[in-house]
Amino acid sequence: MKFFIDFDGTITKNDVVDMMLERFASDEWRAVEKEWVEGKIGSRECLSKQTALVKVSQEDLRRFLKTIEIDPYFTGFLKTAQSFSVPVSIVSDGFRFVIDSVLQNSFQIFPDLLHHVPVFSNEIRWRNGKAEASFPDGVLCEHACANCKARILRENNPDGDFVIFAGDGLSDRFAAKTAALTFAKGKLLKFCQENQIEHIPYSSFKDIENWILTIKGTAIKGTAI
Ligand SMILES: [Mg+2]
Ligand SMILES: [Zn+2]
Repeated sequence: MKFFIDFDGTITKNDVVDMMLERFASDEWRAVEKEWVEGKIGSRECLSKQTALVKVSQEDLRRFLKTIEIDPYFTGFLKTAQSFSVPVSIVSDGFRFVIDSVLQNSFQIFPDLLHHVPVFSNEIRWRNGKAEASFPDGVLCEHACANCKARILRENNPDGDFVIFAGDGLSDRFAAKTAALTFAKGKLLKFCQENQIEHIPYSSFKDIENWILTIKGTAIKGTAI
């Protein structure tokens, strides 16, 4: 098995991109968000427009990110996954700068745990003091995603492993449809329930860690995933 994990609101307690917009963007970001929620624009157009509304220096953003809290059980989950050689990747429609800053703050005691966790995400950069979003590949997917989580799940599973996804929000819906199994909470849970997507509800990484321990315990007795 192999895990792909959403970042905002899944590893972090709250959606950091939304927090960043609330704090540093002009109010028009909400109208852009509404267009995305209503399906009028894809997440790439949404994030580009919203990032253009953000006014913050790299230093101030880094300082703000020090206040972000992660799920307190995420570290334990990673340790358990790695102890069973279960690969874990982060797949995000947010920014690499944000993910790296938050994880470095949160993993000061266990920096080695992060060495084996690839991150697939967008990037924020500053040009002439203005923030702008940039995207990992030039070609838009069929959903017009900023960073297509479904494509990442498909393209990073050459051995045909049992792909498990964990997420919480609307930007996770295409990944949930692609994964063999999805751990879901929040808006993603409702989406999985309404669309008959194979899923397990969860509230923290403790639940997912316990699931691995149960499955691997069973596997040792003879039935493997
Ligand atoms: Mg999320
Ligand atoms: Zn997509």
